[in-house]
Amino acid sequence: MKLSKKTKNLLKFVKLKKERLFLFFDYDGVLVSLQNNPATAYLPSKVKKGLLELSFKKNIKVALVSGRNLHLLKKLTKLRSKNITLIGSHGLEMYYKGTTKHIFDKNLKDLKKVKKEATKLAKDIASGFVENKPYSFTYHIRDKRKNDFVQKICSAVNSLIKKRGLSKKLKVLKGKKMVEILPCDVNKGSAVEKLISLSPKYKYVYFGDDVTDISAFKTVKKYKGIPVSLNKKLPYKTRYTLDLPKDVWDFIDNLN
Ligand SMILES: [Mg+2]
Repeated sequence: MKLSKKTKNLLKFVKLKKERLFLFFDYDGVLVSLQNNPATAYLPSKVKKGLLELSFKKNIKVALVSGRNLHLLKKLTKLRSKNITLIGSHGLEMYYKGTTKHIFDKNLKDLKKVKKEATKLAKDIASGFVENKPYSFTYHIRDKRKNDFVQKICSAVNSLIKKRGLSKKLKVLKGKKMVEILPCDVNKGSAVEKLISLSPKYKYVYFGDDVTDISAFKTVKKYKGIPVSLNKKLPYKTRYTLDLPKDVWDFIDNLN
């Protein structure tokens, strides 16, 4: 197996430190390539095996951190190990030591304030349905007409949030055929920080490829960890980078 130079550099650095390692992986674009059909982005079994082997080691902990909901993340990874933590919905849900819990404790009055109106705005723009989640709601667009409905709904909801003076409290996330409204302080970074507080004295390494990973990059950096970016175009630059999920797979293999 030929390792890329970047993978070698990262491995060298991590091994040199001889510290206890806590590895965090984003899912899409990091452990699996971005696919046309995200519903079938299954974790390759050899990668699953590699992650499990790492997680059984005394000095290594493993977590997956995704924007997908926990149910889907479990389905795609087929990971149900007490040793691997799964974080779903950008940090809202967690599968930790074999139990599922919600890790966000907050009152939801701001969200309630805009929900009815935001839903109406969305429905006026494109047909679709609302999915209620514990701490957010998602509008799924099911409109056959061709238009950039995601952007339109996002702008409309953003204006509403601004008008209500809630710009600092609520945010809108765009996805494929969906728009999600959630509290601002829900992000991967806060979820990672929670796990760090449960497992102090590790060297934290976070692999990510998207804007939603930047908060997590900043968190591991704050705890003297190593952010690893797989996306050159991100506004946040990291010292260590990898190009493809394959490099991440090689990293996992060679750490084993
Ligand atoms: Mg990603």
